[in-house]
Amino acid sequence: MKYVDVVVPLPVSGTFTYAVPSEWEDKVRIGMRVVVPFGNKKLYTGIITVTHSLQPSLYEAKEIIELLDDSPVLRRPQYKFWEWISNYYMCPVGEVYQAAVPSGLKLESETEVRIDAGFESTSPLTDKEQVLLDALSDEKPHSIAEIVKTTGIVHILPTVRCLLDKGAVMVNELVTEKFRPKTESCVKLSKYYSQDENLKTLFDDLSRAPKQLELLMRYIDLSECLRCESPVEILKKDFITKTGVSQGVFSAMIEKGIFEIYHKEVGRLNDSGSQTTEAYILNPYQEEALHSIEKQFIEKSVVLLHGVTSSGKTELYTHLINKVLAEGRQVLYLVPEIALTTQLTTRLRRVFGQKLGVYHSKFSDAERVEIWNNVLSDKSYEIILGVRSSIFLPFRHLGLIIVDEEHEPSFKQYDPAPRYHARNAAIVLASMHGARTLLGTATPSIESYYNAQMGKYGLVELHQRHEEMELPEIEIVDLKEAYRKKRHEGHLSDVLFEKIKLALERKEQVILFQNRRGYAPFVECKACAYIPKCKNCDVSLTLHVALNTLSCHYCGYTERLPEKCPVCQTPALTSKGFGTEKIEEEIIQLFPDARVQRMDLDTTRNKKSYEKIIADVENEKTDILIGTQMVTKGLDFQKVSLVGILNADNLLNFPDFRAHERAFQLMAQVSGRAGRKFKRGQVIIQTYSPDHPVIAQVLQHDYRAMFSLQLEERKLFKYPPYYRLVQISLKHKDPTVLNDAVREMGNEMRAVFGERVLGPVVPAISRIRNLYIRQFVFKIENEASLVKAKEYLVDITGRVLSKAAFRSVKISHDVDPY
Ligand code: ADP
Ligand code: ZN
Repeated sequence: MKYVDVVVPLPVSGTFTYAVPSEWEDKVRIGMRVVVPFGNKKLYTGIITVTHSLQPSLYEAKEIIELLDDSPVLRRPQYKFWEWISNYYMCPVGEVYQAAVPSGLKLESETEVRIDAGFESTSPLTDKEQVLLDALSDEKPHSIAEIVKTTGIVHILPTVRCLLDKGAVMVNELVTEKFRPKTESCVKLSKYYSQDENLKTLFDDLSRAPKQLELLMRYIDLSECLRCESPVEILKKDFITKTGVSQGVFSAMIEKGIFEIYHKEVGRLNDSGSQTTEAYILNPYQEEALHSIEKQFIEKSVVLLHGVTSSGKTELYTHLINKVLAEGRQVLYLVPEIALTTQLTTRLRRVFGQKLGVYHSKFSDAERVEIWNNVLSDKSYEIILGVRSSIFLPFRHLGLIIVDEEHEPSFKQYDPAPRYHARNAAIVLASMHGARTLLGTATPSIESYYNAQMGKYGLVELHQRHEEMELPEIEIVDLKEAYRKKRHEGHLSDVLFEKIKLALERKEQVILFQNRRGYAPFVECKACAYIPKCKNCDVSLTLHVALNTLSCHYCGYTERLPEKCPVCQTPALTSKGFGTEKIEEEIIQLFPDARVQRMDLDTTRNKKSYEKIIADVENEKTDILIGTQMVTKGLDFQKVSLVGILNADNLLNFPDFRAHERAFQLMAQVSGRAGRKFKRGQVIIQTYSPDHPVIAQVLQHDYRAMFSLQLEERKLFKYPPYYRLVQISLKHKDPTVLNDAVREMGNEMRAVFGERVLGPVVPAISRIRNLYIRQFVFKIENEASLVKAKEYLVDITGRVLSKAAFRSVKISHDVDPY
């Protein structure tokens, strides 16, 4: 008997053994998908991780129900990589599978429901139940999706469940391929006419049908090659429009069997841009940096490229990519934000054309399946440009991973599990492929720079901007003084206001950065100081004026802005603080002729909106771009001469050990957007704390000063890179249960970890979506074994949570949480 071990897309650890029916014994291979029953008779799509002949001793292996593939959908070392993520980031491998594979490849249990004809109701039915039964009255099976359509009831599953319990309906589950590739109809000449004499006769025959003859001639024209193996493919719709003949003539020729229609799979992905040009010639500094990178790659598998903004890192990558492709290996180019893929796609397509594939989270699932299948095919993309989830694609043979803007926090996945850091995971993935990793940034993360200093990574520094451009001139504005002397217009100091005016007069562009979206972070009643809070979370609601709503940025809860204070009934609710939306309103009032755009989470909900905002800035259709940190990231605009940072303080005062590192990075990065090509840029930083050391470091473009100071503090307060952090969050709807559980856990933890454990603590936001939260943080020195520490941890939490009283407490782990 043959067995397979299978990973299932559920939050369960490890794999499960299934028996292989004889018909598939010779076909099953590692990486193929199988439909398997799991748990409550439900069917799931699993992936084979091992084939063997060992009967499991603890349980009787069930049989696989279906083998879905002829060839594997995973490639070596993908599963090994999943296991690494699962072990390191402390989450079940099934959750890694869930995150890694697009749902179209995981198949859906498309449940079919039918009425039980003999059912007689003994208790009254609800309206919904009645509607559902009516929809099933034809006694045929209907899929849930269908029923949702016909009844208009979206959340119908609970109703189905009720009727099931009452015995009114039956369910049989059926697994179907969810993803169907998009196809187009194409036209070709029938095979019969590929023989000369047959074709000749056809010409003779058609002499009496001139329209048809003409169409045949046009076909020969368009296909470019009549009898060879691969004529140019002609889409049916193009054929008819281009030739201008009537549908009737064409149909007649189909009927006669002269032409045939066939269906071709086509990409949903953008096919344009097959014209390519050479990469730019590198300037001498870039040339030297490239040599240095290559030299260090001989000994080190990771190199950090610390190159100031506009030093031409992207150009350098391009040259490196060319070399890797020449060796027949693939390249993964990771970026932190979709906004960046938009600009880079154009730049890289110019050089690499169709070799480049793009992968990001705004793609539909079908598009993701398509890229997955492309990467799996023999003629796959050679370069993938993508955000963090692209580390999961089935690469054949990676030669290089580039992690651009490696310092960016958005490489970290926060929720749900796996809570991985794409930069760190990429380094592991690269080593599994025997590939190199290049980390690039103008403002390295403390960890990466530290690793470079310790000799773990290679280091290449590029301090020269391309074309000898100067770094921008930075000016600090003291907001205390501006407000005291009444030198301000709304949230703009006089200085910033004047500079914007000047830039607009000179037809230059301006970027304004405010690290908060919405109109105001909260509203407050002037009379009684009441602050509206979220019903489900322990946070105040954010005001969105355009929608006239208050909304929660944690759970999405939204309500209308009340006219009066709900507590004291005074119409005195006023906004406090300010976000991008408020700045936009002020700017429009102050500069009524300027063309203003806003880029933040609220204005970029779909894929196209990014492209449009960025294109408008590039094409100088926008004068002032206002945005959150989205505008700080590696965007390359030519006409931006002024950058304004509206409030540095909410960056500096963030309650997190990385606050100063991040504040420096954000300010240095957004400053780098100023004055790229034509002249020296200007940056205005508004702050209430002009003497803050980080402000001075930004002012002097002094990364090293920031690095040294931070390093000292990290050592003193036991943070990375000297210690590794593991955070455990526990959640429950009842605070008493939760407190009991964490108290017990805390006692056991302290017995083992001593001072290495902090907590239980009540986090700053102590309730989200009606679940109370408590946390522990573990600080584990680099020299200690992280593996051992994790084992103890799992052991203790497992023991406490297995007690009957605490079974429903939810636990999640976050390794390297910030
Ligand atoms: P970085 O990624 O380091 O911020 P970029 O690669 O975006 O820098 O380069 C900044 C600008 O300078 C871009 O418009 C880029 O095309 C241009 N540039 C950089 N190096 C060269 C080069 N060697 N030849 C021509 N243009 C270059
Ligand atoms: Zn909420």
